[in-house]
Amino acid sequence: MNIPLVNLRAQYASLRGELDGAAQRVFLSGNFVLGPEVQKFENDFAAYCGTKYAVGVNSGTSALHLALLAMGCGPGAEVITQPNSFFATAEAVSLTGAKPVFVDVNPETHQLDASKLEEAITPVTKVVIPVHLFGAMGEMDKILDVARRHGLLTLEDAAQAHGASFKGKKAGSWGDAAAFSFYPGKNLGAYGEGGAVVTSNGELAEAVRLLRDHGSKQKYIHEIIGFNMRLEALQGAILNIKLPHLDEWNEKRRELAKKFDAAFVGLPIETVKNTEGCVPVYHLYIIKTKEREQLQAYLAERGVATGIHYPIPIHLQRAYAHLGLLPGSYPFAEKLSKEIVSLPIYPELGEPEQAHIIEKIRAFFRL
Ligand SMILES: *Cc1c(COP(=O)(O)O)cnc(C)c1O
Repeated sequence: MNIPLVNLRAQYASLRGELDGAAQRVFLSGNFVLGPEVQKFENDFAAYCGTKYAVGVNSGTSALHLALLAMGCGPGAEVITQPNSFFATAEAVSLTGAKPVFVDVNPETHQLDASKLEEAITPVTKVVIPVHLFGAMGEMDKILDVARRHGLLTLEDAAQAHGASFKGKKAGSWGDAAAFSFYPGKNLGAYGEGGAVVTSNGELAEAVRLLRDHGSKQKYIHEIIGFNMRLEALQGAILNIKLPHLDEWNEKRRELAKKFDAAFVGLPIETVKNTEGCVPVYHLYIIKTKEREQLQAYLAERGVATGIHYPIPIHLQRAYAHLGLLPGSYPFAEKLSKEIVSLPIYPELGEPEQAHIIEKIRAFFRL
C-alpha cells in the first residue's frame, strides 16, 4: 500500500466532469481575473461563513496581510498570535511593519491559551490572531472578551478551518474579520493559490477590496497604494464547484478522526483534545509520541506517509532571530513541536487504507 499524506487526484476524479466544465467556461469567457465567478463565490462563501462579506484574494497569506493593513496595523504596532502556526501567520504581521508577539498554547488543544492573552497586551497591541489550528478552534468567547475589554480587533486565521464551528457559530464569523486559504491541500482547495477575507464590517471589506486591486475601485482611478492580490476567475469557478461538497467532506474527516480516536485508545500516544463546544473539521489529525522519528520511519517503510505541522515554532525560526526569543520562551508550543505527527486524513481515504494506517500504528507500539 502507498498512502500519501494528501491526495488531490482522488477528489479531482470524483468531480472531474464538473471541474473540467467550469475551467472550460472560464477559458471561453475570456475573463480571467475576478469577475462573475469570483463574485458568486464571494457571495456564497460569506453566506456559508455567516458573514456579510467575503473578498477573494490570491492566497491565505495575502488575506492575513490585507486584513491586518485594513485594521490599521503598521510600524510601531504589535499583533498577538501563537507560535505553533504556519509561518505565514507571523509573516503577514511583519509584512505590515508591525511586530508579532506570541502567547503560548493550551497543551491539550494546541490552541491559543485564552488565559495567557491578557499578560501579552501592551499599549501598542492592535490585533489578536487566534489560529484555528488543525481545523479546530480555541475558546473564542474568552479570547474575544479579553480583546474587546482592551479595545483590540480580532482576526481569525481560519486557513485550516473552513466549516469548523464553536458554540454553534462558524469559523470566520467570530472575529472582526477572518482569513481563509484555498491552497490546494486545505479542506476547501483551489487549483492554484487562493484566499479570502470574510467580515461583517463593511469598512474592513471595502478596505481589503481596495488593497487587493491597486487601491482602485474604477479602472485607472487609484485612491490608495495597494497591491495586485486578486483572486483568479479559474479559482473562483473551481471553488464554486467544490463549496457545496465541503460539509460532506468535513463530515467524512470527522468520521475518520473518530475511528482513529477509538483505535488508538490504550496505546502510549496522546491525541489532540477538542475545546468544549467546538465542532472541528480535521484539516490535520495529530498524534503525539516521544518516539516520533522511529514511528515515522516505521510507517514510511509500510507505505504510510506522515508529516509534522510544524517542526520549528515560529519564534525559533531563523527569520525571527531578531526578536531575541530563546528556547524556553513558550514551553508548551516547543514541547508539542517535538512530539506531533500528522497522519493522512482526507475524505477520499478508503477503508482498506484507513485499516492499514490503524493496524501499522498499533503494530509499532506493540513491538
Ligand atoms: C495555509 C496557511 C496559511 C497561508 O495560506 P496560503 O494560502 O498558503 O498563503 C496561513 N495560516 C495557516 C494556519 C495556514 O495553514
